[in-house]
Amino acid sequence: AKAKGRNNFQFFSPAMTAAATERMELERDLRGALAAGQYELHYQPQVCAKSGAVRGVEALIRWRHPERGLVPPLTFIPIAEETGAIEAIGAWVLEEACRQKAAWRAAGMPALRIAVNLSAQQLRSSTLVAQVRAAMEAYGIGPGELELEITESAAMEDPERAIGRLEALRGLGVELAIDDFGTGYSSLAYLKMLPIDTLKLDRAFVRDIETDENDAAISAATLALARNLGLKVVAEGVENEAQREFLSRHGCELLQGYLFGRPEPAAVWTERWQAAAPG
Ligand code: C2E
Ligand code: CA
Ligand code: CA
Ligand code: CA
Repeated sequence: AKAKGRNNFQFFSPAMTAAATERMELERDLRGALAAGQYELHYQPQVCAKSGAVRGVEALIRWRHPERGLVPPLTFIPIAEETGAIEAIGAWVLEEACRQKAAWRAAGMPALRIAVNLSAQQLRSSTLVAQVRAAMEAYGIGPGELELEITESAAMEDPERAIGRLEALRGLGVELAIDDFGTGYSSLAYLKMLPIDTLKLDRAFVRDIETDENDAAISAATLALARNLGLKVVAEGVENEAQREFLSRHGCELLQGYLFGRPEPAAVWTERWQAAAPG
C-alpha cells in the first residue's frame, strides 16, 4: 500500500468527491442558516383511529436553502448533530412550535397537541428542562399541550440521567413519546422504568404490515405491550386503508401518515381552518 501512496487520490471516486463536497458545503451553509431564518416547521396530523379526527400534530423541521430549495431533515440533522449546531436548532424548534401553538390559539384555531422531536444531544443538555419551561411560560403552554419525542437510542444512552430529565419534563406537564419504537435495543424492563406516555411504532413495521408476518407480529405485540403498560401508541407511516384497518383492529388509538396528511407549513393549516370556520 505504501508504494501506492502517491496515487491515494485514486481511491476517491468522482461520486465520493461529490458527496464530500456537498457535505462540506452543507456544513458551511448550516452555520448561517439559523441567523438567516432559513428553518421552518411543517406540521403533520396525528388522527384518532376510530373517528379520523385530528388529535395532534408533529412538528418536522425543514431547511429552506437559498439555492437547494427545501432540504429534508435527514440531510442536515445528522451534520448538525456532529457539529453541535443541533443545540441551537433544537432550541429554535422548541420555541417556534410553542410560538405557533400560541398564535393558533390566539386566532381561535383548534387546540391541538404539538409533538416536537428532541435530538440525543438535547436530552444530554443540562439546560433542556429550563429551556422547555421557559418556552412553555413564554407562550402559555399548559399541561398536555406539548409532547416531546425522544428516540429509543437517545433514552438508552445514559438511562439514569435520561430518567431524571424525563421526570423533570413530566413535572412541567409535558407528555413524552418514544420515537421509532422497535428499532433500538431497549429492554422491556428498562422501558417500564421510563416515565413515558406514548410509543411511536416505527414506519419500518407499518410498511408491510399486511404482507409480512414478522412485521404484523411485532406490531400486534407492541400494541399489546403498550396496552398492558398503559401507554398510547401512535403508528407512523400509515399510507393505505389495509394498514389503517390492521392497526385499528389491534387497538392502535392514533395514526400518522400520508393517508391522513403530509407535513405542511403552518400557513396551510391556518388557511384550512379559516376555510372550515363558519361565517
Ligand atoms: P421521525 O420523527 O420518525 O418523523 C417521521 C418522518 O416520516 C417524517 O420525515 C415524515 O415526513 C415521514 N412520514 C410521515 N408519514 C409518512 C408516510 O406515510 N410515509 C412515508 N414514507 N413517510 C412518512 P421527515 O420530516 O423527513 O423527518 C425525518 C426525521 O428527521 C424525523 O423522523 C426525525 O428523526 C428528524 N427530524 C425532523 N424534524 C426534527 C426536529 O425538529 N428535530 C430533530 N432533532 N429531528 C427532527
Ligand atoms: Ca418523530
Ligand atoms: Ca418516528
Ligand atoms: Ca422514523
